Amino acid sequence: MNSVTVLGLGTMGSALAAALLDRGHPTTVWNRSAEKAAPLVERGARLAATPEEAIAVSPLVVACVLDYDVLRAVLEPGAESLRGKAFVNLTSGAPEQAQTAAEWFGSRGADYLDGAIMTTPEGVGGSDVMFLYSGPRTVFDAHRPTLAALGDPVYLGADPGRASLYDAALLGLMWSTMTGWLHGTALVGAEKTPAAEFTPVAIRWLATVNRFLTRYAAQVDAGRYPGDDATVDVQIAAIGHLLHAAASRGVDNALPAVLKSTMEQASAAGHGSDSFAAVIEVLTGRTA
Ligand code: NAP
Repeated sequence: MNSVTVLGLGTMGSALAAALLDRGHPTTVWNRSAEKAAPLVERGARLAATPEEAIAVSPLVVACVLDYDVLRAVLEPGAESLRGKAFVNLTSGAPEQAQTAAEWFGSRGADYLDGAIMTTPEGVGGSDVMFLYSGPRTVFDAHRPTLAALGDPVYLGADPGRASLYDAALLGLMWSTMTGWLHGTALVGAEKTPAAEFTPVAIRWLATVNRFLTRYAAQVDAGRYPGDDATVDVQIAAIGHLLHAAASRGVDNALPAVLKSTMEQASAAGHGSDSFAAVIEVLTGRTA
């Protein structure tokens, strides 16, 4: 088992270190507040006194701190320790920050992978959760077996910004989906249906929605949206029923109002008879 260093022992960094220990990796840890290392040290982790000391003992370093500025501040004083190391940065950030970081690490002689964690801490270590990576393929391939201790490693390409770009896109999808689910939960809840009763039905519906996404992805890529299933205009009428039902029950309608407005813009631009996938024309600004 390869030895690994983990920098940052917040909620997420602690979960990462614990997953590495669970798989038997000799794990060295460092955190600004050293007391957070205690549960990991009890499980066999070695606590380093400084980031440089922690980096020196392992060929692979995983970092998960608050943001990229914090990471730079933590590493800058002992940056010479990075030479020859593989550095995997799982701190959340913007694609541009990942690109700048890749240059910074490269100029200090380190191989750099940027990553994004697609779970909350309790999911870390599960083979069903995705960890997204971008950067040099050779670096990813070399460390993939170790990174698999954290979750399923998904490689997105050489551009270091890709993992952060996907992260942003997927979080947007999550927030839209969860807000849509909560809106539906509030709607049926107004008629005394518990969330736990509504949710299994909602989850079955999401499986059908999954199939829509696969079909519409091909349409988006082709730039043609045959309205042979449900047209934009049909869905504008349908969302009116949602708005009416929610308004009658005192449920906030900001979310469906935005969705209706976007569909109406697509329709006004000549996509009323197209499939819902034509809404991409509004979102990309091509209808403006
Ligand atoms: P957290 O519990 O607040 O931990 C923050 C970490 O950053 C701690 O190790 C903290 O050290 C360190 N830190 C903050 N300011 C610092 C400074 N000025 N100097 C040195 N170290 C500093 O946050 P978290 O939930 O673990 O999140 C960490 C990263 O993972 C974030 O980028 C977050 O977006 C990302 N992430 C989190 C989740 C999640 O579900 N939690 C999911 C995906 C991605 P101290 O312990 O000394 O304060």
